[in-house]
Amino acid sequence: MNVHDSEKIAGILKSEGYIETDCPQDADLVIFNTCSIRQKAEQKFFSELGRLKMLKKRKPGLRIAVAGCIAQQQGKKILKRVPYVDYVIGPQNIHMVRDLNKANFAKIAVEDNLLIADTELPVERKDQVRAWINIMYGCNNFCSYCIVPFTRGREQSRPSHSILNEIKELAHKGYREVTLLGQNVNSYASDKSFPELLKEVDKIEGIRRIRFVTSHPKDLSDELIIAIRDLEKVCEHIHLPLQSGSTRVLSLMNRKYTFDEYLKRVDALRRNVPGIAITSDIIAGFPEESVYDYGLTVKALHEIEFDGIFAFHYSKREGTKAAAMRGQIADSEKLSRLNEIIEIQNEITEGKNQSLNNSVQEILIDGPDEKNPLKMSGRTRGNKIVSVTLNAMHQPIKPGDVINVLIIKANRHSLEGEVIPE
Ligand code: SAH
Ligand code: SF4
Repeated sequence: MNVHDSEKIAGILKSEGYIETDCPQDADLVIFNTCSIRQKAEQKFFSELGRLKMLKKRKPGLRIAVAGCIAQQQGKKILKRVPYVDYVIGPQNIHMVRDLNKANFAKIAVEDNLLIADTELPVERKDQVRAWINIMYGCNNFCSYCIVPFTRGREQSRPSHSILNEIKELAHKGYREVTLLGQNVNSYASDKSFPELLKEVDKIEGIRRIRFVTSHPKDLSDELIIAIRDLEKVCEHIHLPLQSGSTRVLSLMNRKYTFDEYLKRVDALRRNVPGIAITSDIIAGFPEESVYDYGLTVKALHEIEFDGIFAFHYSKREGTKAAAMRGQIADSEKLSRLNEIIEIQNEITEGKNQSLNNSVQEILIDGPDEKNPLKMSGRTRGNKIVSVTLNAMHQPIKPGDVINVLIIKANRHSLEGEVIPE
């Protein structure tokens, strides 16, 4: 979501005549688009910001803006704490970047924006094959650990016609894959439901693949499972954050599903969409997570066998319900639980990748393989990265091509494949 917000900020600035540079020394304006989901992201930002202090001294005309969730959360406090910051712009107000040059710009833009879903912004995309598209903003769920509802406000869904028009334009420009973005896409609600929206996107000529993040397990409907099963372009992959294998901890997290309910959704997905890749998020060391609860998460990993997970140790976020809970777990214990979870999942992921060995996979080519420019890199429909060896007999392969590849080797985090002669 944040990376895509950065693409919008870049799009607005470009339309205002700015030129992008990779080098802060050359810049007249530096914008930090910040994330505050966990403390580590926050620390990283403040240390990066510290590096610009000397530059600003040497170049007083340099303007520094802080955008994103830290901007939203801290507001004025940033200007006090870091006096060389010029502007603070929350994630609901990135359209205001347009006004930075105006003398009357108020320095701080952190108000709730009730029109965000109706605002169209120019986007400067980094990729030429795959594109992100916001279908909704904000979140109503208030999971007890999470800062997002406080920084991104309440849910607002974009009207379907503006989403579909944006995707048609992307298809026209040569984009082949779209990822529909929302904190909880299953609660998309405009003139269409989420499965109805998918049906319309599926009809757009030129688009070959449709993905979406993130699905909240409590709202994963049978209609959505049927849409994944029946719609040709919707990829057989779902990111379905479990967070914990303990129903007691899930309830403390305010996730609104039990572990058994989660398992039933996984069963329904696997029954209806054979071979579907399921990935997840796990939090280790949530307040009051006992060794027994933690064991239930480990058991869940073995039982479900996710294709991959993002695992985090619980990070206290000021203002959230969990931050005030008793039973906070020591950092060392959180870390040791996290490391064990990562190790267990690494083996499961590797096993999952191994099971694809010798299979034929449809790959959408992204571009040259960064590690070996003689190869190309792409992804399977299940979102696994494949490094593709080119075949001298085959026609040249370019980004955006969809080709069949024989998987010849499975590594822990990627696959290797060979083009199948046509
Ligand atoms: N809306 C999405 C994404 C939320 S943020 C969703 O509900 O899945 C992505 C992930 O960050 C979450 O799934 C959660 O696992 C993790 N996360 C959020 N807040 C956290 C915190 N305070 N500490 C540790 N992990 C956190
Ligand atoms: Fe955060 Fe929960 Fe909303 Fe996801 S659904 S953004 S974890 S509050």
